[in-house]
Amino acid sequence: MNRKLLKSNSFEVSATLPIVSIILGLFTVATSFGETPTNASGFADIFETIKREASPEELYAFLYDMPKGGDLHHHHGGSNIPESWYQVATDPQRNGGQYYYTRYRIMNCGEELPPPGLRGGSGSLMYWVNINKRSWITLSDCEQSEYKPLEDLTEKERQAWMSSIVLDRPGEGQNEFFEYHWSRLNHIFSNPYLMAELLVDNMKRFGAEGLHYFEPQINVFRYHDKEGNPITPHEVYEIYKERINRPDALATGVTVRCQLTILRFLPNSPDHVAGAFDFIDKHRDLWRGINLAGREDNEKGHPRRFTEAFDNALRQYPGIGISIHAGEENEPSEHIADTLRLGATRIGHGVNLIEDRDTMNLMRTGKFFVEINLISNELLGYVDDIAEHPFPVYLRQGIPVCLNTDDRGMWDSNMTDEFFVAVTNFNLSWEEIVLMGNYSLEFSFAQSDVKKQLLESFQRDLESFAKKYSGGDWRTPLKSVKPVTYGYGKNHLGLKL
Ligand SMILES: [Zn+2]
Repeated sequence: MNRKLLKSNSFEVSATLPIVSIILGLFTVATSFGETPTNASGFADIFETIKREASPEELYAFLYDMPKGGDLHHHHGGSNIPESWYQVATDPQRNGGQYYYTRYRIMNCGEELPPPGLRGGSGSLMYWVNINKRSWITLSDCEQSEYKPLEDLTEKERQAWMSSIVLDRPGEGQNEFFEYHWSRLNHIFSNPYLMAELLVDNMKRFGAEGLHYFEPQINVFRYHDKEGNPITPHEVYEIYKERINRPDALATGVTVRCQLTILRFLPNSPDHVAGAFDFIDKHRDLWRGINLAGREDNEKGHPRRFTEAFDNALRQYPGIGISIHAGEENEPSEHIADTLRLGATRIGHGVNLIEDRDTMNLMRTGKFFVEINLISNELLGYVDDIAEHPFPVYLRQGIPVCLNTDDRGMWDSNMTDEFFVAVTNFNLSWEEIVLMGNYSLEFSFAQSDVKKQLLESFQRDLESFAKKYSGGDWRTPLKSVKPVTYGYGKNHLGLKL
């Protein structure tokens, strides 16, 4: 990994915050974070000392312990670490009574290709595709013999199964991710009880690394129960709502609000916009925004195709957040400009914004936000080298940004990894870390009273954190921190944790 701890510069960025606060109507909190927290005001120098003197493992522990604002770009289906998928999918007590089978060998049972759910993107048969018991029963004897109950995998098979949903091998990138990972998970996705359980698993894991808020993109359509009966979108909402209000979820202290995402490249994708707005409108306590996801480089994936559908929805529905993936591309395009035209105030990724002069200058007004996903862009090859990522240019030109995890389950990473990569490659200052945390909460789609509480609790936690490490000996408090890292931290960052 390219680790560049440059000499600190004293560039003042926090002055832009009150402007954003005024735009968003957050007068009450604007003054409280127009500058770095009172107790943390001298902390910038201590942070510089830590960056200079800490070992990578110490810096990681520090960043793990550090309070974090919100994770605004977070696909629920891609955000679960493989161990959690396996645990919940093999535990009928936690997944609504379902049993899953996975293809562990290929017997060439017939001439015909299996149905789309059982194939990879190229149409070929693939290993480790998961089906529910109801589907397994309908297969021929030969086909059934290709599958094993998930809970019966040997340890070696279990490791291969987990690896099949992570970008962990040389050469795996966009194709493996877009065409195979999601197809392999297959029926495991279509169980809202299991997915709600995993949401709480993530509340616990993210809460442990100091995150205050996240905004998962969660599907509510096309779910079925174990008998195959459809579960309505409203029932899906009820399932999630009940689960995140149980004591173990509340104890995490993490606030969750959701987005509904439309796959952008289907033949009839624009027709889904009206239904998505309608669902969000009726479930505003939990669902707050809409998104478009999927390959932009698909011939049907471009944003201009959705203009009429969004205009029609905006004639009808007030106050629904619009965050849309745009500029997650290897080539320059007009996608970000076209996406702002749809009504988006937040752009997911924005990697090629740097090549669109006028739109970039427009976004420096502070009204628009870019959700940065460093590890995602690195592993999917949208940047050749993470050190060349445009993120610090956006940040230091005054475009509001924050760090996000995107599909961290498939990178086998966490929020701390994003901060570690940003600090070590781009020499983030303490002011910048605080600024991005505040931005992430201000630009969230949470209700304004929730947002205010989140900003206040984030501020309080930052002050206690600064106090904890301000005693002149930052190493002593760090000893009690037990950071959790996953495959990315161990293999890509080389951390010995
Ligand atoms: Zn995304």
